[in-house]
Amino acid sequence: MPKNALLLFKNDLRLTDNETLVKAIASGKKIVPVYIYNPSSYKNIALGFPKADQVRVAFLNKSVLDLRDNLKKIGGNLMIVVGKPEELLPELLVKHDCDTIYTEQEFATEELDQLQRIKKVLPEACEIKETWGRTLYHIEDIPYTISEIPLTSKAYRTNTTKNTAVRSTKAAPTQISVIPIDENAWGALPTMEELGFKTEKNYALTYMPGGETEALKRLTYYLFESEQLTEYRWTRNLSLGLDYSSKFSPYLAVGCLSPRTIYEAVKRYEAEVKKNQSTWWLIFEMVWRDYFTFKLMRFQNQIYKTEGYTNTERIFTNDPLLFDRWCSGTTGIPFVDAHMRQLNETGYMSNRGRVNCSSFLVHDYQIDWTWGAAYFESKLLDYDVGANWMNWHTQAYQIWYTNPVNQAYKYKAQEYIRKWVDEIVQLDDINILIPWETENVKYPKPVTIFKKWTRAINKIKKETEEEPHL
Ligand code: FAD
Repeated sequence: MPKNALLLFKNDLRLTDNETLVKAIASGKKIVPVYIYNPSSYKNIALGFPKADQVRVAFLNKSVLDLRDNLKKIGGNLMIVVGKPEELLPELLVKHDCDTIYTEQEFATEELDQLQRIKKVLPEACEIKETWGRTLYHIEDIPYTISEIPLTSKAYRTNTTKNTAVRSTKAAPTQISVIPIDENAWGALPTMEELGFKTEKNYALTYMPGGETEALKRLTYYLFESEQLTEYRWTRNLSLGLDYSSKFSPYLAVGCLSPRTIYEAVKRYEAEVKKNQSTWWLIFEMVWRDYFTFKLMRFQNQIYKTEGYTNTERIFTNDPLLFDRWCSGTTGIPFVDAHMRQLNETGYMSNRGRVNCSSFLVHDYQIDWTWGAAYFESKLLDYDVGANWMNWHTQAYQIWYTNPVNQAYKYKAQEYIRKWVDEIVQLDDINILIPWETENVKYPKPVTIFKKWTRAINKIKKETEEEPHL
């Protein structure tokens, strides 16, 4: 009897453009598609919050169930199990008579360590076949080895985009042959308790609905139905609503959408609807995502350290009370608080918000940037190891300070602030940006009004006389 193959899904929860899936099916073996929930991914870390919080689980659950539904439509199913991969996989391989594991290639330290632990306990005859699927440009096609990845994004981008072609997407398979087992044996989603959470929070309506089906709908909507992409270059710095940016990030993070699928859609949009700075810019952002993945691979563990890969000596004061104020969105700076509250409630924050909140934590509150990166990791639906840690590193050591008072004014954030900061909803468009100047407002006063904000504060007070610069 020929042996079967185990197909281990991780952050590639899709059928379209999933080369790992295509290879597993092409092997001709019967497949055991599996998704593993590892409770250690949800444990509290030393800072006192879960490594990944329930809002992320809620989005993941929908994505996993959608993958199961889509696999069923082509004659398959998805086994859902809970536990440590290094304990579960050897059991599953024996139980279902598998001699091969097909899975997406890992690139970050924790996942690589996990893979080593798995390899140690696998039967000798079992082969692991890993396939690269993470980036827009394939790792084998870029004009650098990982140790040569440039220190500046511009150097990487210019050379790569000029000299590398994006590979074509792989069509979603129309048939899969899985092992014949009882319906119940495919398993069910874990409860929050099984993952280690003591009380269950209700995130039934996540910010973006999870799953490949929704991801593809969002792609069609953002490009061809609403044609929002045409405006992206000019709207991407806003924070209010859903359509100022693509919202592809949660789908990319768990792999409901591949970057190449987005790329092909944008190219079609350029041919059929409009080619402009916006269409260029969306691809430009996807190239950033690639760059941060490859740069993380170059520096690995150095990225997660306070001194960063640049080995920068910097003293942080790390006041835990200030950190709590930042996390809970009670700093007294409306632009920061609105974004942090949105993150806490929905698991999403705009790029403008991320830039301001990270800069504020590091440069104004003088708190270790790795604390902030860990907090974002816990909450963001779109948590992506490269994008998160590299962007935080950049905020801490590589770019200029961002003034959150000035930015709220520049990006006309009043409506956005009103949506998230109830305590100051009654203030007018000027005072809502500087609420500490109004008496008897039941909203926290900032710990410090920094001198460096004076110019921005004066500009806001003069707002009626001049139009803000966009
Ligand atoms: P769009 O503006 O529509 O961009 C399209 C896609 O391009 C995004 O989905 C994303 O994949 C990529 N992209 C855009 N901006 C960046 C960027 N600066 N760096 C890398 N890729 C980018 N993005 C994540 O996907 N996961 C994270 O964990 C994450 N953490 C961040 C932490 C900080 C401190 C900062 C400043 C940025 C972070 N970003 C992260 C980047 C960016 O904020 C988000 O990708 C973006 O806000 C997601 O919304 P969108 O899909 O609508 O983005």
